[in-house]
Amino acid sequence: MHDLVIIGGGPAGVAAGVYAARKRLRTVLIAEEIGGQSIVSENIENWIGRTRIAGTDLAKLFRTHLDAVKSDVVELALGEHVTSLVKNKDGTFTVKTRTGKEFTAKSALVTSGAGRRKLDVPGAEKFENKGVTYCASCDGPLFSGMDVAVVGGGNAGFETALQLLAYAKSVTLIHRHKEFKADPITVEKASAHPNMHIITHAEPIEVTGEQFVSGLKYIEKDSGKVQELAISGIFVEAGVIPNTEFAEELVDLDTLKRVKIDTSNQRTNVEGVWAAGDCTNELYHQNNIAAGDGVKALEDIYLWIKTL
Ligand SMILES: Cc1cc2nc3c(=O)[nH]c(=O)nc-3n(C[C@H](O)[C@H](O)[C@H](O)COP(=O)(O)OP(=O)(O)OC[C@H]3O[C@@H](n4cnc5c(N)ncnc54)[C@H](O)[C@@H]3O)c2cc1C
Repeated sequence: MHDLVIIGGGPAGVAAGVYAARKRLRTVLIAEEIGGQSIVSENIENWIGRTRIAGTDLAKLFRTHLDAVKSDVVELALGEHVTSLVKNKDGTFTVKTRTGKEFTAKSALVTSGAGRRKLDVPGAEKFENKGVTYCASCDGPLFSGMDVAVVGGGNAGFETALQLLAYAKSVTLIHRHKEFKADPITVEKASAHPNMHIITHAEPIEVTGEQFVSGLKYIEKDSGKVQELAISGIFVEAGVIPNTEFAEELVDLDTLKRVKIDTSNQRTNVEGVWAAGDCTNELYHQNNIAAGDGVKALEDIYLWIKTL
């Protein structure tokens, strides 16, 4: 029996794992891999303490840190995909994995993150990291002085556009509907910028280019006409898909399937279950935030375990 099971090996899970080791909570950290989403990023330039680090190197640092502190307190179960998290009659929690393993603990911390909804058109996969990107705060500055497009008319799309307007030559936002999902104030702010262009009721159909992106073809839904934007970067903000299927029978999720939490302590609606990072309904999603929320959860879990 463990004190704690942590599901996920991104910044949230690893930060919690390091704190669990130092507080000597008997913990098992289960994850497909250590590193998380930004492992694919070539340049992370906002991980505090490092001016620049590749995602793969950040993942190695995470692993090194865990290995240095885990001793016989934190067990790593890697290469495992969690399929269910249930509360038992005695108040403990059991996690099952795809390979048939089972882990039982007094408490559970869900840090399983999320995946970006991909742009599903020809060329999008080929040009990923060659002009097609899913993270404006990470890659935006690389497109200084260039013409770029944002796909998506929700808050994320408009906030991305606002960020990009600080350094891009122009930003064209493409939205598939006539009405925006984003807050009117955000839409107004972006629309007022002289370098902002908005195309509504249009669907991207192809990313074009040679070695790097040079254009985005889209279809005007009203006229059926195909147009092409000449741009060097495409920022996709088509939403995220939280990795929360295994917990949906247990904890409250919001309409986007993110775990609802109390942001003061990361508690879910179920006593004994916490969540942190991109799998939660926390408003902002970044590596530093995920790590901080993992720590916040762990502090609260420690107090909770000690007063059981
Ligand atoms: C391409 C890209 C680049 C980014 N660049 C930056 C950047 O430069 N700076 C920045 O601050 N943020 C960046 N982000 C955002 C940042 O990566 C996330 O905010 C952060 O990774 C969230 O951390 P997390 O621990 O909550 O979840 P994640 O990093 O998503 O980690 C989730 C973990 O859970 C595991 N997992 C998921 N489901 C299961 C399951 N069922 N069973 C077992 N394990 C599971 C995964 O294997 C992984 O270990 C980027 C995101 C992307 C996609």
